[in-house]
Amino acid sequence: MFAVRTYQLSIAEPLEIEKLEAKFPYNKSNMLDKLKHLRLKDQSIVNSRLNECNNCEHYIKSTTTCKKCGCFMKIKAQLSNQKCPIDKWGPVYDQPTT
Ligand code: SF4
Repeated sequence: MFAVRTYQLSIAEPLEIEKLEAKFPYNKSNMLDKLKHLRLKDQSIVNSRLNECNNCEHYIKSTTTCKKCGCFMKIKAQLSNQKCPIDKWGPVYDQPTT
């Protein structure tokens, strides 16, 4: 017998990595650790990316998602290796290590 857990994410609330961690505690050792490793340490880059999205015709403000890639931008913008599907912003590879 398999136990199936389901989680429901609200698209109305801001989704951040810490909030995902609280919702998915059993993934802490794999997926979320990888996300933390990729997380941008320079908040100004994240803000710059989100600013581009906020002014983009493909951004859906009510869901904070992108029509082009379908991603939640408040999460995607925090990850250093991600890029805009139409090259409005790109990946960052030279962030300092901790
Ligand atoms: S990721 Fe790119 S295409 Fe999508 S909303 Fe942001 S700027 Fe626009």
